[in-house]
Amino acid sequence: MPEVVLAIDVGGTKMALALVDDEGTVLADDVRPTPAEPDPLRVVAPLLVGIAEILAQLPAGPEPLRVGISSAGPLDGPSGTVSPVNIGAWRGFPLVEHVQRAAGEASGRRAVVGLANDGHCFTLGEHWLGAGRDVGSMVGMVLSTGVGAGAVLEDTLFSGATGNAVHLGHISVNAWGARCVCGGHGCVEMYARGPAMVAAAQQRGWTGGDDARALTADARAGDPIPLAVIDEGMRALAAGIATTATELDVTTFVLGGGVSRAGEVIFGPLRRHVADFAALPYVRDLEVRPAVLENAGLLGAAALALRLDPDAP
Ligand SMILES: [Zn+2]
Repeated sequence: MPEVVLAIDVGGTKMALALVDDEGTVLADDVRPTPAEPDPLRVVAPLLVGIAEILAQLPAGPEPLRVGISSAGPLDGPSGTVSPVNIGAWRGFPLVEHVQRAAGEASGRRAVVGLANDGHCFTLGEHWLGAGRDVGSMVGMVLSTGVGAGAVLEDTLFSGATGNAVHLGHISVNAWGARCVCGGHGCVEMYARGPAMVAAAQQRGWTGGDDARALTADARAGDPIPLAVIDEGMRALAAGIATTATELDVTTFVLGGGVSRAGEVIFGPLRRHVADFAALPYVRDLEVRPAVLENAGLLGAAALALRLDPDAP
């Protein structure tokens, strides 16, 4: 019988849950809006109700239930706490503890819970069932309102000491750049994230809209200002990609996220700049592939669960 795990994907706007088997088939799923509440317990409440409801569909069994959580970062893996930038009520919030208790009570089984940031889970998902399923090592990247990332190296998630490894969006690509929200200077995200490119275009007189969708549409139509800011943003991202490839000795990169769905208008300049930076022989074949999954984060949370040791305390 295939094993079934519980996958959870917590973001600033929605919280998704699914029962997923060990072949990646989604057997049941549920999505709830993330409450915009100052009380941390009120924010987690609908997730705990969702866990009880979805686990009611799972037959009881003697073996432990494995649960994987994808959460917006930053987070602290060893303590199981999260402090997502886009969920203000949660600062050092013990998400693993809450999920473990709810899943244990609802299933009548011992719950073993793993936590990883959303960039890591995206990467696990694309590696398991998506654009990176034919390679042992890859870096996944999510380009939207921020730049998330993660790495699977030789089929193992490289989480780092605290669960935040390969934070590509906050690699500095301009040592003399302005100060970033993270406290550093000249980070990839300051140039490449959707809202940054939109703001740069508006400063140069572009009036075509206020989001990345409008920006990429105008670039596709040949508007020189959006074309120029996207080119600059993708040069920054390319520098981050080449740095990461050079550091990790990995040549498969998978790019997903809302901004990447604009397609060639993003991938064209990105690949051109990557070729300009990735000069050492061992990274010269660097390839940036488009992501293929719609729900890579949730499937990655399932992959995380399937990698947990069921005998872990
Ligand atoms: Zn930064």
